[in-house]
Amino acid sequence: MSESISWELYLKIRQAINFLRSMESGKPLNLGFSGGKDSVVILHLAEHSGIKFNAIYANTTVDPPGTISFIKKNYPQVRIMHPEKSFFKLIEEKGFPSRLRRFCCEVLKERYGIGKRSIEGMRASESRNRKDYEPEQCDARKWMRGAIHILPILGWTEDDVWEYIRYYELPYSKYYDAPYKLNRHGCVGCPLCNYKQMQLEFKMFPGYAKRIIVAVERYMNTHPNGFLACNFADGYEAFYYYINEMPIAEFHEKKRSLFGFNAQEIIQREILNQL
Ligand code: SF4
Repeated sequence: MSESISWELYLKIRQAINFLRSMESGKPLNLGFSGGKDSVVILHLAEHSGIKFNAIYANTTVDPPGTISFIKKNYPQVRIMHPEKSFFKLIEEKGFPSRLRRFCCEVLKERYGIGKRSIEGMRASESRNRKDYEPEQCDARKWMRGAIHILPILGWTEDDVWEYIRYYELPYSKYYDAPYKLNRHGCVGCPLCNYKQMQLEFKMFPGYAKRIIVAVERYMNTHPNGFLACNFADGYEAFYYYINEMPIAEFHEKKRSLFGFNAQEIIQREILNQL
């Protein structure tokens, strides 16, 4: 353990542990473990609280490489669940996910929480949408059928999380440190992030970009009347559009430009050359 912990964090820890104890009911709770820093903290808090729970990692197949071996080595108490279809297979069947079409989250992550009470590492400071959340948050989405999210570190800051990890010397993912310095640990190129973050992550893990290009091209071939096949010549163009968050009119304008536009060349140079 490092030397000391601030009084503010000490109070937050007490509050989180008491809250977790108050949430215990007959059945063990679920705990969603992603391998990221917040999940490392909630797992440690839940263990200290003495409540009964099952920690689960849902393999999204698009997390930073090495996430599963990190979990197996450092947190063997976490159960690893593998999906029936990978992220890439889903793209092949449904096209790209988006903020409004989060089919990958539904299939790969959230199905383990349907109808359950799950402890999660969500924090309000991560997103404006979470400002009104309560530590015990009901899921209003129809298909989540009564899921309840239990959020013991909802009011914690990023500094609190790091102070806790350092104080207890908890193992955490290498991707937070140099040379990676990722500020989030989750699906690479998630469309819920802004496009700059997507580009940065695909540059870092170009193998995933390549697999997405192949998958989306298969989707375009099997859906010749869909938006993607009607607007893009190949998977490279569709991927370029996906990671640039641009209006479709702007994309067509680019293609008509005097100097030409070659998505494959750009993606090859900027992303795939890192392979
Ligand atoms: S890519 Fe984003 S939206 Fe899709 S499963 Fe991962 S976190 Fe959810």
